[in-house]
Parts: sequence; C-alpha cells; structure tokens
Amino acid sequence: MYWRKSMEVPILSKRLMKIATYIPKSPILADIGSDHAYLPCYICLKDKEAKAIAGEVRIGPYERAVQTVRNYQLENKVEIRLGNGLEIISEKDQVCTVTIAGMGASLIEKILNEGKNKLKTVSRVILQPNTNSEKIREWVDNETYRIIDEAIIEENGQFYEIIVANKVDNCKNSLSIKERLFGPILLEQKSDVFKRKWERERHKLTTVLNNVKNAKEPDANKIQQLRRKLDLIEEVLSK
Ligand code: SAM
Repeated sequence: MYWRKSMEVPILSKRLMKIATYIPKSPILADIGSDHAYLPCYICLKDKEAKAIAGEVRIGPYERAVQTVRNYQLENKVEIRLGNGLEIISEKDQVCTVTIAGMGASLIEKILNEGKNKLKTVSRVILQPNTNSEKIREWVDNETYRIIDEAIIEENGQFYEIIVANKVDNCKNSLSIKERLFGPILLEQKSDVFKRKWERERHKLTTVLNNVKNAKEPDANKIQQLRRKLDLIEEVLSK
C-alpha cells in the first residue's frame, strides 16, 4: 500500500516526505494534481497554522482527495477543487507555495505556463517531475524564480528530482547548460544517489547511441546530440 493511516498523520512516501520538508511554516499551499491529497493533509495535520487547496482535474482522484480530507476531519483546512492546473486558484486565495509533483516535465511546464497569471502571490514553487527535470529548470531559469534547493532521491528503483525555487524580482537566466541538465545544487553535492542516477543514464544512452549508429541510415544529428550528452555525463562522473 502506498501509505497507511497512522493515529495522527498519513505516512507519506519518501518522495512526498522530502517535498514536505520544503514547504514553509504556516503556508497557504496549493497542491496541483494532488490525487489522494496526502501531501496537503499531512502538512495541515503537522502544522496547525497551515491551510491548503488541493487541485485535481480528474473525478476519481478528486473523490479520493475528498475522502482523505473527511477521514482526517480536515474540511476546515484543506479544500479540494476540481479543475485544470492552476486555474483552480485565484489571487484572493493568497497562495504562497505551489507544489506540482509526480507528473512528466512537459505537463508540469504546461500547467505553469497556462497558469502564469495565477502565480502573483506565489513566493515558492516546489516541482518534482518524474522525467526530464532539465525542462523544469529551464522554465524556472526563464521566469522570475531562482532555484534555492534541490534533492534527488531513489525510491522503488526510480530516481526523483525535486526542484525548489523562490520568486525573485528579475529573471536572470543564470544557469549553464550543464546546470540545467544536472541541477546546480545536485551538481555541487554529487551525492551517491546522483552518481547512481547518471551511471544508469550513461548506460541507457550508450545503448541508444549504439542502436542509432547501427541503424540502416544513421541519423547524424541524433548521434551528435547523444554524444554531447554522454560527454557531459562522463565529465561529471569522472570528477
Ligand atoms: N502529486 C501526487 C504525488 O506526487 O504523489 C499525485 C501524482 S499523480 C501521478 C498525478 C495526478 O495529477 C493525477 O491524479 C492526475 O489526475 C493529476 N493531473 C494531471 N494533469 C492535471 C492537471 N492539468 N491539473 C490538475 N491535476 C492534474
């Protein structure tokens, strides 16, 4: 089972637990794509001052979220709203923190782009794409947010990256290609989990490169692209 109900709070997965550590105290949180609403319920049970809105676009997960809120008697603290992405919040909610987790990077990017005008009051975004974190760092770098922390965790054989960004006055485009790919803070830390992730990625890309090279009509652009990425990975792993 994904979680079990304890006496007081839901037991979160390692991934959601890590995300929870980045949510500021006494927040008004919007968790977009909340599914069971475990994260907002956990936060509101742990932090008596916290309030949360959980957004869901699908009816099944929306109903599951409503049920979790009922189970924990959090109706006055966690509001479940049915709708697409950030459209479920408005300026009067005064949301300060947005979490979007457990989805592909393209979907997270789409939600952020479509809901940009809903981010006026949002001083922190915590984003956890399941794939292609590079795309999310690129989004942050092109907007008025700056990465202040990152984490990489391994759970059930999967690697997850968490990107924490705070609002800044001006967009600076300060990340290098390497930092966008690996994460500026993850690159500094080079944890064992980080190394394992990139060793796996190197192995995967080497196989892809060999397949592309051995194709009847090898795609020169693709080969160059893969070679460049592999060179970067090798450089980072060798230091
Ligand atoms: N955030 C939770 C987590 O990290 O464990 C749940 C992740 S679950 C895999 C993704 C959820 O996002 C699904 O329940 C899905 O219905 C919801 N979702 C997908 N696109 C969405 C959108 N545009 N707006 C709101 N929710 C969305």
